[in-house]
This record gives sequence, C-alpha cells and structure tokens, in this order.
Amino acid sequence: MTIDQYANRFVCDLVAYEPGKPIDETARELGLDPSQIVKVASNENPLGPSPLAKIAMREALEESHIYPDGGGYRLRSAIAESFGMNLSNVVLGNGSNEIIELLCHTFLNRDAELIAAKHAFVVYKLMATLFGAKYVEVPDPGFVHDLDAMADAITDKTRLVFIANPNNPTGTMVNQQAIDRFMARVPDHVIVVFDEAYFEFPDSPPDALKYVREGRNVCVLRTFSKIHGLAALRVGYGLASENVATLLQKARQPFNVNAIAQAGALAALADTDHIAKTRAVNRAGMAFYEDALAARNLEYVPSFANFLLVKTGDGDRVFRDMLKQGVIVRAMSSYKLPDWIRISIGTEPQNHRCVEVLDSVLAATAAV
Ligand SMILES: *Cc1c(COP(=O)(O)O)cnc(C)c1O
Repeated sequence: MTIDQYANRFVCDLVAYEPGKPIDETARELGLDPSQIVKVASNENPLGPSPLAKIAMREALEESHIYPDGGGYRLRSAIAESFGMNLSNVVLGNGSNEIIELLCHTFLNRDAELIAAKHAFVVYKLMATLFGAKYVEVPDPGFVHDLDAMADAITDKTRLVFIANPNNPTGTMVNQQAIDRFMARVPDHVIVVFDEAYFEFPDSPPDALKYVREGRNVCVLRTFSKIHGLAALRVGYGLASENVATLLQKARQPFNVNAIAQAGALAALADTDHIAKTRAVNRAGMAFYEDALAARNLEYVPSFANFLLVKTGDGDRVFRDMLKQGVIVRAMSSYKLPDWIRISIGTEPQNHRCVEVLDSVLAATAAV
C-alpha cells in the first residue's frame, strides 16, 4: 500500500518536465569551475539580462519587505500600451508557463480535449494530463505545424489549441496565410493559444494579436525569459480578449509575479538596445551554425528562433559525451526525437566551443 492510492491519479501518472541541466550541478559533477561550463540547453539569452533591468531590480530590492502589486499595474499598463491594447487584455504569469497552466485550469476538465502538434513544446501535454483532459496530437510533416489538420481535429469537446510560433524544439514557424485560414475555421467554443516565446527573433513574424483585437477567443503568450534575458525571474504574459483574460485573472494566485520580476520586466521592455544586440548576436550565431553544420553534412531544421535542432544520431549519448567536456546541450528523446539534439545559439566563443566539442564527440563515435 502506498500513499499514491489516495493521490490524484493524473498527478501519479505524470512524467515530470525535465529542464536543461543546470550549470552548477554539471560543474560539481565534473569537478570544474562553473565559469568553464557552456550551457546552450535552455534557449537563454547568451548576453545576459537586460542591463536596464538589472538597475531596476537593484532598486526594487530595497522594497522587498512590501508585497508586490498583485494587479501588476505598471507592468501591465506598459505592455498594453506597447501593443495598443487595454489593461484588461493583459495577464501576468510566473513565466508564460504559468499562463499555460492558468489556461488549462480555466478551460480543461476530464471531458475536454487539447490539440497540439506532434513536436510541440512538451508542457502542453503535461498540463493536459494534469487536468485529466484528452491530449490530441496532430502530425507535423517536416516539423511544421499543419494547421489545416489541426482544424480538422477540432471536435465539440475541444477547448484549447496550442500553436507555438516559432515552435520549440523545432524552430519552425507558420505564416500569416496559414493562421488566417485556420482562424476562419475555429468555432467559438475553442480557445486558440499562440505561444510566441520566440516572437522577437524572426524578421517578419505573423500577426496573431489582430485576433485578440477582434475579440476572438485567443490568447497570445510572450515571455521575458528569452529575448530580454530574464529567465531566472519567471515572468511572462498573456494577451487575450477581455472575456478570456478576466477568467485567467481569477485562476491565478494573488501575488503570482514578484516585485523584483515586475520591476526588471518593466525596464527590460524599454531596453530596445539589449533587444537589438540580442537579435544581432543570434543572427550571427545562426549563420555560423548553418555553415558549420552544412560543412559537416549534419542535418538540421532551419530555425526562426534562437536554437537549432540537429540530427546527430543517438542524441542521449551525444548529450552525455558533450556534457563530459563541459558543454550542455539538450537531448531530444523526450520529444520523440531520439536522434536529435537541440543547441541554443550562444555567443561567438560559446558557438565555436560547442561545435569543437560536437566534432570530437562525433569523431569518437565514428571511430567505435
Ligand atoms: C521558453 C518557452 C516558454 C517560456 O517559458 P517561461 O515560463 O516564460 O520561462 C514558453 N513557451 C515555449 C514554447 C518556450 O520554449
């Protein structure tokens, strides 16, 4: 007899999310200094946090004894203003991951269905499972979301459709035409979620916000974890039609985003210099990898984001062998891609080191 029999069955059955391996843990295991480790496993910003955010956070520390503004007024106002929306359209989350959870809390139950692409971000499946809903996985030929097939999969029980754009871990993006055709087919009992964690990286991303402006049942997710370099703070947001946003506000904890995070995010939003620098470093790094991988005849999926999916064969082993040399990439077996690894674009020295170590690992494999 175990305590499990008294627990929620959906929690017992859950396979927990496995994050990128932390730098400190790796350094401890290898007996190395953390500064010698290159982590390119979680699509973090290789330039670090927005410098303006750091200044704002230091100031905010002084008020740490005061509860945060639970309504997030200043940050939500700034976000609303930057997109020409109203305060009532903006929901803050403890990372955009929390908004994913709030959406599931609000709209899923044991009769409901959630639709996502076969190689979509895994958190959608975890959340659907947690709420006992049916997870409907739609094939994505060529690693691109097939929105026509996703529209075909909608039933009376469908409540949520997740479209990560660009998607993680594939880096692929669906265009405006595909989105418009899809939205024309979506009935009112379905909430469409555009997860745009990497929105700021592509040159001309499609506009999903227009559907929020039109009052459709749509939620667009954005985050401060990627382009702004604030992953440790856990702050993201949803832009949703007022009806949807009002429900999400009810489902959250009263102080779900801490005051330091709110201050940092507010400053980061205005840090156009850091955003531009990050995009430039990413563009240069992406070009470097595309050349390096082509030169080695390694297959990769062309990416609109800040990472690349690379076919190395036995990704778990490549991950482990690269780890031994202090480079943390992401194995993709949990994404049904056992022959692939995902590499986040880093700084120029990090990218060179990563390719060097990948070379040595693949050479050793070939020699076996
Ligand atoms: C990184 C990422 C997020 C952001 O998560 P946070 O909780 O905001 O850090 C959301 N969706 C996808 C697809 C991501 O890759």
